Amino acid sequence: MAIKVIHDPLVFQQHMLALRMEGQTVGFVPTMGALHDGHLSLFHRAREENDVVAVSIFVNPTQFGPNEDLSRYPRDPEGDLAKAEALGVDVVFMPTPEAMYPPGFQTFVEVTELQKPLCGAFRPGHFRGVATVVTKLLLLAFPTRAYFGRKDFQQWRLIERMVRDLAIPTAIVSMPIIREEDGLAMSSRNRYLSPEERRSALALYRGLLRARELFEAGETRAEVWVREVRKVLEETPGVRGIDYVEVRDGVTLEPVETVGRGSLVALAAHVGPARLIDNWWVGMDTLDLVPGYNIPPFPWSEP
Ligand code: AMP
Repeated sequence: MAIKVIHDPLVFQQHMLALRMEGQTVGFVPTMGALHDGHLSLFHRAREENDVVAVSIFVNPTQFGPNEDLSRYPRDPEGDLAKAEALGVDVVFMPTPEAMYPPGFQTFVEVTELQKPLCGAFRPGHFRGVATVVTKLLLLAFPTRAYFGRKDFQQWRLIERMVRDLAIPTAIVSMPIIREEDGLAMSSRNRYLSPEERRSALALYRGLLRARELFEAGETRAEVWVREVRKVLEETPGVRGIDYVEVRDGVTLEPVETVGRGSLVALAAHVGPARLIDNWWVGMDTLDLVPGYNIPPFPWSEP
């Protein structure tokens, strides 16, 4: 069956409700488009686990700060549709900002504690925008399951909490970070990088590899981890500024003094025009580059 593209929120909602009323299971993947293999790994998993797969492509203005990259965020609707279709996505929802936030819109969702640390401290209002749009998207798509990447680890934990707190009847599934062949976490924002900046950006992955060395050496002091990982970033030319290097509890995101399996080491830094994030869920996720696992064998990622 050909892929169905819907722009109108209420038409999308009616369509999705009808599918659920028929007894079909629905997997939903919210995205901001400019799709890469990270997104596609989520589509792939959703395809395996559900009768119907729906994807949203919406660059959500309320999660961008006034000096952030909303206007230049990469957009590629035609390429995105081709990739979604090739992965067997059934429905693509592409609303306009005006349709999602009509005049008079004034309702927002906040996850009061999980929105504060890490990226929340550097991007005021970001997670309020994320929580609000994801709530609205879940109410429109009414999915059995929704899929999120651990690239945005804090976002995943926040949405998991929100869905539980608000009794939204959707299972939240998280998936590992998909990396380029040299280790750089895939991101739509990598398109901003020049070849030289692209090399500097690898410092984030190298910092996480340093963390793994410390883990394997039995080092458990969080302050040592932070100092050592920071050093990798600081010593790399082209890393303009470090927003944070932190070690936190992998569930509550509260600070920890002792690191162990299940902790989170997370970092955010500026390289050229891009703000990049990466993380390692200590002992839970791999940092190895396993062909066919970390890099799914999709046709367009083959050399
Ligand atoms: P975005 O379009 O950046 O908002 O991302 C949409 C979804 O894809 C989010 O759940 C992200 O965490 C996920 N995602 C983005 N990049 C990656 C990646 N490299 N690996 C795994 N998931 C990712």
